Amino acid sequence: MNIKFNSLYLAVLLAAVFSTHVAAQTPPFSIAIHGGAGTISKANLTEAQQKAYREKLKQAIDAGYKVLEKGGDSLSAVTAAINILENSPLFNAGLGAVYTYDGSHEMDASIMDGNTMNAGAVAGVKHIKNPIDLARSVMDNSAHVMLSGSGAEEFALTQQFSLVPTSYFDTESRYNQLLDAKAKIKAAEQGNNANLEHQASLDYLDLDYKFGTVGAVALDQQGNLAAGTSTGGMTAKRFGRIGDSPVIGAGTYAENGVCAVSATGHGEYFIRYHVAGDICAKVKYQQKSIIQAADEVINQRLITAGGTGGVIAIDQRGNIATPFNTEGMYRATRKSGEQAQVMIWQDN
Ligand code: ASP
Repeated sequence: MNIKFNSLYLAVLLAAVFSTHVAAQTPPFSIAIHGGAGTISKANLTEAQQKAYREKLKQAIDAGYKVLEKGGDSLSAVTAAINILENSPLFNAGLGAVYTYDGSHEMDASIMDGNTMNAGAVAGVKHIKNPIDLARSVMDNSAHVMLSGSGAEEFALTQQFSLVPTSYFDTESRYNQLLDAKAKIKAAEQGNNANLEHQASLDYLDLDYKFGTVGAVALDQQGNLAAGTSTGGMTAKRFGRIGDSPVIGAGTYAENGVCAVSATGHGEYFIRYHVAGDICAKVKYQQKSIIQAADEVINQRLITAGGTGGVIAIDQRGNIATPFNTEGMYRATRKSGEQAQVMIWQDN
């Protein structure tokens, strides 16, 4: 009896010592996600809608966090979180992707591995349920970084992806946004009494019509950074238009020892201002903190340029920055040993 008790006591003691040791040894890890930035006004979002967004963001951040907690890699954490947002009609990625001007869906996505500096991207895909998974496959199993349109979808078939009908992506709310956007474009064109180029007239649209992209950045226990972004682009965009989300250095970037960034906003500005890469360059070459670097690009350089949107960014120590220059940005963060924080506006 006594021997039994003593060995049990010893086992419990050893387990306690071991777990304390492991906890103390666990390197920091963290993750951040976004579900798009824009004119998300408190007045227009009902309590029920707010709750739905917050719950989905919480589910996605926790899914990514769980991967990291178990010692999984940052790339898997990024895709786990993004898949959940792509599968929700609330966000403009996968199911719920916005409509092009001609009434179809064209999706873009990219992913980058900060450890190897490998990257994969797809642009203008129409039948891929989870474009971020295809971007990952391009990175892992092709000789290229970016594949577009039918070429990307033929590659998907060689990778055992099944193609879904375009109707899978249809949602009533996005369709109504398209009708609304087209009416505004028409009114703007008539109001100006000029034969405006379609693309130019898009500038007359409310920000609401442009955003809703999803993305994730993560630092795993092995110290590897990763970033990914997935989107349906902008409502009423011209068919064939490609935004910043699949462009490495614009909408997505990751480099070990430096930072990882996923962006959301008016893609034409994010491409020209090389937003994700610029933030990491400030960290790398000017030794700026991730908070300062991201803030300078989003709240100074982009504002001066007239570009709207935001980013989620993470550094090598797991510090997170989530600046945006719009009214709101759906987002969530979670650091090792901490609870998730889910936010929409600056203050909550
Ligand atoms: N950046 C995306 C694009 O321009 C849109 C967004 O973030 O909502 O395609």
